[in-house]
Amino acid sequence: MSKIRILPDVVANRIAAGEVVERPASIIKECLENALDANAQQIDIAIARGGKESIRIRDDGEGMTRDDALLAFERHATSKIRSAEDLTSIQTFGFRGEALAAIGSVTRVTLTTKLHGATSGTEVFIEGGKIRHVRDAAAPGGTELVLRDLFFNLPARRKFLKTDATEAFHITNLVTHYALANPTRGFTLEHNGRQVLAVTATTDLRARAYQLFGANLLDNLAALDFAQADVNVRGFASRPHVQRTNRDGQYLFVNGRFVRDKLIGRALSDAYRNILPPGAFPSAMLFVEVPPDMVDVNVHPQKTEVRFRAPQRVLESITAAVQRALGVEPKFAPFPATS
Ligand code: ADP
Ligand code: MG
Repeated sequence: MSKIRILPDVVANRIAAGEVVERPASIIKECLENALDANAQQIDIAIARGGKESIRIRDDGEGMTRDDALLAFERHATSKIRSAEDLTSIQTFGFRGEALAAIGSVTRVTLTTKLHGATSGTEVFIEGGKIRHVRDAAAPGGTELVLRDLFFNLPARRKFLKTDATEAFHITNLVTHYALANPTRGFTLEHNGRQVLAVTATTDLRARAYQLFGANLLDNLAALDFAQADVNVRGFASRPHVQRTNRDGQYLFVNGRFVRDKLIGRALSDAYRNILPPGAFPSAMLFVEVPPDMVDVNVHPQKTEVRFRAPQRVLESITAAVQRALGVEPKFAPFPATS
């Protein structure tokens, strides 16, 4: 008799869920990305008690058929890639096919979805990874997920969640990131019935930054627009008199994907080395664009870490972009460089 067993799917999914779903904000990240991948123009989010009690996220994207709505909760179920080769040219946020399976296994989920133009929509209720019911439902075109009782079946994990205010802070920060990266889409966020954020579709980054942060902040930022070989850097960086004690004012994106990247953080610090005193951090909204095959986004389940094929080149471009915008002598020689 063998001692090794293959775990049942429900158990395997719940274990894997830990990697994708760390806190309410990570759930909202996955749902926001799914909505954007589905080409939603308007995304409305409402949370209760920092997202621990409930999260509702509704989009007017393409919606799903009944079959797809059920498949979506299976592990490795994705409509976005078909083969390993597709990973090198990924254009969508999703591709792992793990998010909904993970979310469905640690919450109580009601999914309501309808294809635009379909006569009827579908409602699926899933609890701890098990489908409890599926039925026809009236719905507008698009998708709505209502998630209740996060980690109801993982009490140890539930204990690690922070206060409502802290979880709500992370969510607001996250939605701000996505709103910034997608100025042509509308976003709203409500916490315990109170509106926290509301931005309507607009034309460009400047207009969106104005909606989110107001004229005051914009006046203190220098615009960046810099291209060097195949690395493109756009956005805004703060003028020298703006100083923060942490990186909270830094919004970093690679190919439209929001990242927490040490390299980009370092490039920013490098650019301000002789401008800011030690311990002071600049604010910035940095959009780095590189060809898809120059960056690997499949490093971490939450996809907030990326790996560049030529990190030095990216680093130099960012530093140069910021220094040029601030009128500082460039620290690096212009291209062509090695690596
Ligand atoms: P991935 O995004 O990596 O493909 P997910 O588990 O996040 O995996 O979603 C599984 C599939 O469900 C997606 O590939 C997509 O086809 C479908 N889906 C999920 N959310 C939405 C949505 N908001 N609108 C339309 N389709 C969706
Ligand atoms: Mg996804």
